[in-house]
Amino acid sequence: MATKKIARFLAERRLPTPFLVVDLDVVADNYKKLRNAVPRALVYYAVKANPAPEILKLLAKLGSSFDTASVNEIDMVLEAGAAADRISYGNTIKKESDIAAAHAKGVTLYAFDSEAELGKISRAAPSSRVFCRILTSGAGADWPLSRKFGCEAAMAKRLLLQAADRGVVPHGVSFHVGSQQRDPNQWDSAVAEAAEMFRELEARGVNLTMLNIGGGFPTKYRKSIPAMNEYGHAIEESLQRHFGNRIPDIIVEPGRQMVGDAGVIQTEVVLIANKADNDSRRWVYLDIGKFGGLAETMDEAIQYPIASDRKGKSERVILAGPTCDSADILYEKADYRLPADLAIGDRLEIRAAGAYTTTYASVAFNGFEPIKTYCV
Ligand SMILES: *Cc1c(COP(=O)(O)O)cnc(C)c1O
Repeated sequence: MATKKIARFLAERRLPTPFLVVDLDVVADNYKKLRNAVPRALVYYAVKANPAPEILKLLAKLGSSFDTASVNEIDMVLEAGAAADRISYGNTIKKESDIAAAHAKGVTLYAFDSEAELGKISRAAPSSRVFCRILTSGAGADWPLSRKFGCEAAMAKRLLLQAADRGVVPHGVSFHVGSQQRDPNQWDSAVAEAAEMFRELEARGVNLTMLNIGGGFPTKYRKSIPAMNEYGHAIEESLQRHFGNRIPDIIVEPGRQMVGDAGVIQTEVVLIANKADNDSRRWVYLDIGKFGGLAETMDEAIQYPIASDRKGKSERVILAGPTCDSADILYEKADYRLPADLAIGDRLEIRAAGAYTTTYASVAFNGFEPIKTYCV
């Protein structure tokens, strides 16, 4: 459901579509829910999920730290009022010149998952703290992050042992269990693997102090999700089981959980059409599609709730975007239904669209502008 504040904004301001409205009260509430669920963790908000300045300012004020992936994101966080010691440069794929720029701005925490990246950090950001990302399977996640990120534990161990010799501080281990992770138990095997690494490295004289358990906490789309507290309990239980009474400093990097359900995209129906005279399923073309911000509809992985305020009997539809690329189909296999009296020009609400939308919009494919964000 759109919140009262969002509903009022949509009713009072008939702005040109498509656009995203974010209710900052929901973001604040999500921050509190996460803090309550995992009280021992420091929160590093994953800026890429939604870098709207109002969101960054709010989270900075609430005490959040920030996970960034580029110098531009670092600048946005500094601009929002958080000091450099609250920033992690968590992308494992960085240019050496960007690491040097981050270092010059005072950032002292860096991720790596390969020998070459460790080399870059040690040259461009000497004496900073580094953590190594390990691979996970991504099982249970609607948007898995696959083998692109992380390395195997044995390699991570070897590289963390090297780190001290290279003039940086071997600080810890990180992992990400895959985005929109609907199974709270998926953290356990990575926590176990990390605990084993902590013990083995300690035996070799390297004392790691930080475990970064990543993001992955879900937002509610069409399917139900476990409550944030269930994640908190599963993670705490896992930390105690594998680390005993020597649990390191814990970092979480929520993106989707923080902003997903805080935003609604308003879109307009551009065209409703059949492909044949006896075609039973109508194509509904919207003024936003895969290139306008709904990239996570790829393989129909993320299924946003879509609502019309018409009351007609609902009928199955195929939903597509407005661009001249045939990949720009949103949902063809998934069961989406809209009222039979839906008309061209109607406005629809794409709900739970606060995460990974504005940042995933192309700059001007077919001349369509990137979507605007309004925070209320
Ligand atoms: C994208 C990302 C996150 C946030 O992931 P969510 O699934 O949105 O919580 C956290 N950490 C890193 C390193 C990321 O790349």
